[in-house]
Amino acid sequence: MAFDIDMIRGVYARYEKKVEETRKLLNRPLTLTEKILYTHLSGEMPESAFERGKSYVDFAPDRVAMQDATAQMALLQFMQAGRDKAAVPSTVHCDHLILAKDGALADLKGALNMNKEVFDFLSSVSNKYGIGFWKPGAGIIHQVVLENYAFPGGMMIGTDSHTVNAGGLGMVAIGVGGADAVDVMAGMPWELKFPKLIGVKLTGKLNGWTSAKDVILKVAGILTVKGGTGCILEYFGEGAKSLSATGKGTICNMGAEIGATTSTFGYDESMAEYLIGTERADVAELANQVKEHLTGDDEVYANPEKYFDQVIEINLSELEPHINGPFTPDRATPLSQFAEEVKKNNWPKELEVGLIGSCTNSSYEDISRAASVARQAVDKKLKTKAEFTITPGSEKVRYTVERDGFLNDFDKIGGVVLANACGPCIGQWARHTNDPNRANSIITSFNRNFAKRNDGNPNTHAFVASPEIVTAFAIAGDLTFNPITDTLVNENGEQVKLDEPAGIQMPPKGFDVKDAGYQAPAKDGSSIEVVVDPKSERLQLLSPFEPWDGNNITGLKLLIKAKGKCTTDHISMAGPWLRFRGHLDNISNNMLTGAINYFNDKSDSVKNQLTGEYGVVPQVQRDYKANGIGSIVVGDHNYGEGSSREHAAMEPRHLGVRVVLVKSFARIHETNLKKQGMLALTFENEADYDKIQEDDVISLIDLESFAPDIPVTIELLHADGSKDFIKAVHTYNQQQIEWFRAGSALNLIKLQNA
Ligand code: SF4
Repeated sequence: MAFDIDMIRGVYARYEKKVEETRKLLNRPLTLTEKILYTHLSGEMPESAFERGKSYVDFAPDRVAMQDATAQMALLQFMQAGRDKAAVPSTVHCDHLILAKDGALADLKGALNMNKEVFDFLSSVSNKYGIGFWKPGAGIIHQVVLENYAFPGGMMIGTDSHTVNAGGLGMVAIGVGGADAVDVMAGMPWELKFPKLIGVKLTGKLNGWTSAKDVILKVAGILTVKGGTGCILEYFGEGAKSLSATGKGTICNMGAEIGATTSTFGYDESMAEYLIGTERADVAELANQVKEHLTGDDEVYANPEKYFDQVIEINLSELEPHINGPFTPDRATPLSQFAEEVKKNNWPKELEVGLIGSCTNSSYEDISRAASVARQAVDKKLKTKAEFTITPGSEKVRYTVERDGFLNDFDKIGGVVLANACGPCIGQWARHTNDPNRANSIITSFNRNFAKRNDGNPNTHAFVASPEIVTAFAIAGDLTFNPITDTLVNENGEQVKLDEPAGIQMPPKGFDVKDAGYQAPAKDGSSIEVVVDPKSERLQLLSPFEPWDGNNITGLKLLIKAKGKCTTDHISMAGPWLRFRGHLDNISNNMLTGAINYFNDKSDSVKNQLTGEYGVVPQVQRDYKANGIGSIVVGDHNYGEGSSREHAAMEPRHLGVRVVLVKSFARIHETNLKKQGMLALTFENEADYDKIQEDDVISLIDLESFAPDIPVTIELLHADGSKDFIKAVHTYNQQQIEWFRAGSALNLIKLQNA
């Protein structure tokens, strides 16, 4: 579907030369990850090799994908860049805003009503700027990308953490914030710290009840939720080759749960088969021509300890099915020990709902294996005890598995097919329950299982497993059931046992679909008008931020001196505020409401220096803004850690905060502030944090000579008339100072594009 074969041809044309240059530069055999990364450098080859875990490197990704929740602000910003079209092939996918309640058709209808203006906006912006648009119901971003756009050796970014799913087709695919997507679509380089590399050697072959999902459930248990941070996992070995491309996708998908930058696999026959099966024989043909570059060198895989920072080995022949959870995806328990764990920990034994599908596990193979279990329930006269839902990852998969009778198998055990969307996986689930705080157990084939994620109930014990295990558990309705060893009592009172699941990797009659739900962009979008109702509470067109006038910034009021942890969630909360992600002014009403005020230890309570009274942070700041007074936010260590959410930088900018001065920044947030035209400064002497008083008026007295590596002098005028002078350092390079001068990075791009 509209994949860009010329772009792929161009990428492959670079491979030979770039890999050779990289080999010379590193003077040793190469991992696949290194081949992909060095082939996608934004500029020339460096003089010396990048340092893993240290060097910040500019890349030029091949594609961008965005989901509907994050795309709103990304596209609103992109519209400011002054471009006719996105600089690289890009797509938008409507999947996060569909509430699961009564089943696919009714739920989709409800979502179309409720989110009409958002979908219409995304559709018209996409149409105008050459961006492929996948309508609500078309599928979940990562499954659609795998089916249509992912290609071996490619590099992409996506505004969703499970973008990493595309590693199943041999990509380096990375989840990012909206601001990064804007950079790449606007033609700017994209920066990433050169990752460390973890090699995962897979030997043996899956069998019985074990599936690809169990590989990543096991890896999550080994590495834990933080073990992959700053790393790319590269899977290799005979076991890797024996897995289907979609199975590889599942493994890469859940790499997000261990904090990995991404995961990937070398190009092999299963990938070629998947490409051909999804109508991309031409991509497979091109990949075959450069296939020696689309995998790591033999020597690397023969002696992985020499080339990876860490190596893990898993024998698939011996791997047991795993069940991870509750409340964290790295609590991994082999099936044989799970019943014991349930009893020992007093987890609710009755299983209330089994949910299969999602972007993690809704391939043809997954569905066919789960359906083979469902079929047995009917054949063996078993009554399914738990509720059971199926979330297909795309309309293409849904249509095909319906045609091949699998949905019918689920129907016969009372399964409810939900819309091809995120639904319960992202908490968009109107779960039928009378007590929203009741302790209960559910099991899903999804990826995340943090408290409240699926249904908002903090006492829902959510477990994660493969679709076939979820289906077997739903039939049993009992968390202590082990389908490998246990029997169930059927309607005739007989003890019956479930046989091992049997599935098919690719549909024997091929994939099919009536309407995939794709809208190609207009060839010439210049006459398309993007309409946003000025009265809308969910969307608001952006106005460019004011450029810097070149003068010192003086007379700033202290808005808040934040104490302790101040993450992007403290700065711009999620939850109910998700609704306003496309409306900067409305979402700004959550600005810094979670930060703790140093002077009273309270959140969302700061002194308004104009009235002397305490008020909520956004309101106090609006008061300053209305009076034409700038303000400053002071913070502690690692200010802005958490997500790459650009709203956390845009909101203070929008409401008139001029400076953020902290002991230290989380790097992504610091960059986001710079991009939005804010001054992000760090105390030269962190003890100066203590000099900031509640009624201070603060001035930057030598900003006129703002330059790289030159500290800025700050005057603190205290309420008693005394003054302190402190120094702040910064990390602005010349280019970033130009962003500041222009008012934002986008303003500068617009000037350059004019
Ligand atoms: Fe994210 Fe779940 Fe949607 Fe996948 S199905 S994109 S994990 S919300």
